[in-house]
Amino acid sequence: MFEFSNFGHWNFNESMNFQQSKSSSGRNQRLRGWAEMDPDDNTPLLDRLDTLYKAMDRKYQEAADHYGFQCNGCDDNCCYTRFYHYTLLEYLYIRKGYHLLERERQTQITRSALDVCRKTEVADKKGRAVRLMCPVNVAGLCVLYAYRPMICRLHGIPHELTIPGRGVSKASGCGDFIRICSGKPYYKFDRTPFYARMAALEKELRKKVRGMHKIKMTVAEMIASFAAHK
Ligand code: SF4
Repeated sequence: MFEFSNFGHWNFNESMNFQQSKSSSGRNQRLRGWAEMDPDDNTPLLDRLDTLYKAMDRKYQEAADHYGFQCNGCDDNCCYTRFYHYTLLEYLYIRKGYHLLERERQTQITRSALDVCRKTEVADKKGRAVRLMCPVNVAGLCVLYAYRPMICRLHGIPHELTIPGRGVSKASGCGDFIRICSGKPYYKFDRTPFYARMAALEKELRKKVRGMHKIKMTVAEMIASFAAHK
């Protein structure tokens, strides 16, 4: 059953340290199944995800306004971070955005995604950390900005999270935030309701498609899978 705690490692350091699991034919079959799902089948759930994303964006903006924080890009650019995403729903949502791109753009980001996946695999085999730009970031701009996953939307601002049975945990903002805004009065940016709503939507989707396998994918892996299973 998909639960809130399935989200696990939405944490910068842990995402950097994660060692990618080896691909298997079972995994490839699952990817094929996900990549080939009919986009129209899950429109109502994707619309509800869109509503949830809008609520996150509003809350994020409220917090950013409180601190007077604006992301103008920085050397630590979070698009270099090896973020993992854990929901089939977000996979389907970004796939929707990908298929709305012009063919040339699809080809461009697919090439980048395959390159990122290949370099990441090589680095993992050698036990080296890797820091590669997300393939969807083209010349400093996210070409799937409206379709970007939850963690891309929430990153940067200090936040807190209540995990049942584990209490409240607090996390700091990104490097730029700390440089610009530390010392300002705390604003309670609670991710808990967003995670809970995301988990509930994911649970509905999994029930509908009868798919219970866990997802743990980077955006590069998602894009590569769309191209491999058109
Ligand atoms: S999906 Fe967009 S916002 Fe997220 S890491 Fe990639 S380029 Fe950056």
